[in-house]
Amino acid sequence: MAGQELRYDDQTVVVTGAGGGLGKSYAIFFASRGANVVVNDLGGSFKGEGGGSAAADKVVEEIRAAGGKAVANYDDVVNGEAIIQTAIQNYGRIDVLINNAGILRDISFKNMKDQDWDLIMKVHVIGAYKCARAAWPYFRKQKYGRLISTTSAAGLFGSFGQCNYSAAKLSQVGFTETLAKEGLKYNILCNVIAPIAASRMTATVMPPEVLDNLRPEWVVPLVAVLAHPSNESETGSIFEVGGGHMAKLRWERAKGALLRADDSFTPAALLKKWDGVSDFSEPEYPTGVADFMGLLEQAQKLPPNP
Ligand code: NAD
Repeated sequence: MAGQELRYDDQTVVVTGAGGGLGKSYAIFFASRGANVVVNDLGGSFKGEGGGSAAADKVVEEIRAAGGKAVANYDDVVNGEAIIQTAIQNYGRIDVLINNAGILRDISFKNMKDQDWDLIMKVHVIGAYKCARAAWPYFRKQKYGRLISTTSAAGLFGSFGQCNYSAAKLSQVGFTETLAKEGLKYNILCNVIAPIAASRMTATVMPPEVLDNLRPEWVVPLVAVLAHPSNESETGSIFEVGGGHMAKLRWERAKGALLRADDSFTPAALLKKWDGVSDFSEPEYPTGVADFMGLLEQAQKLPPNP
């Protein structure tokens, strides 16, 4: 496919939170390349307050004015079943789900209220689960599906004042990694992106000159490639993407320290070997629990401590 225009004719793409920001860019792109698009958005504020149909309607109008095919859906992502049914009822199928909807409730941990925590979990964790859960049987039955989840640098690395959002966003990594493993034999490929882009979410925290170099459209190519049928193997991957830069991330394991029976498994024995615990000079890149078990098996075969 290199060099060719990727197209999505006869495919149905559901984009949650597509009334603005990144989701809008995805929706407009997929429709411009032949897909039927479900533009989901409940139209609230970036803090998750209020709602309305205007945001989704405007994007649908823009797509149709350009000759594309799209329908609006105004459900909260926690009603994932209704969102996926919009795809089924209008287009008879779903091929791609982009779990993109999101809100912020930034506040220091000290001042956080349960409501700030719960609402973030509801939208990012439960919402993404509900949409994927509703799409999954269709993906399995047709032995085809592409799921893109959305994490964040805040989740991967932590971010002051965002512990609710960080927790919710990192959940998308574990969720997607597992779905990638479960979906593989049904040709359901699942990847997770950590975008950075100008949107109402970032408008208040970044200056205009920086935002100008972080256009949401510049995130689209990565999503487009991952969601395309020509992607036959990229799954369970995490990508950072923004400002035109795209890079894969992975886990790195230090050399490690092995306590053995003759060390008597004491904290003091561990302290003696602490350098190894954090020694990244000979890294490994694990992708599953089996890697750790393999490592243990090898380690058990080593001769005892001198
Ligand atoms: P945005 O606020 O412009 O777009 C999010 C959209 O989701 C909004 O249109 C909103 O109405 C919709 N939405 C919110 N709650 C919803 C719900 N319960 N049901 C349906 N729709 C809902 O923000 P954005 O920057 O485009 O963010 C898109 C995604 O990217 C989010 O998941 C966000 O956490 C993530 N993200 C963005 C950045 C960034 O730099 N912009 C960085 C990291 C992660």
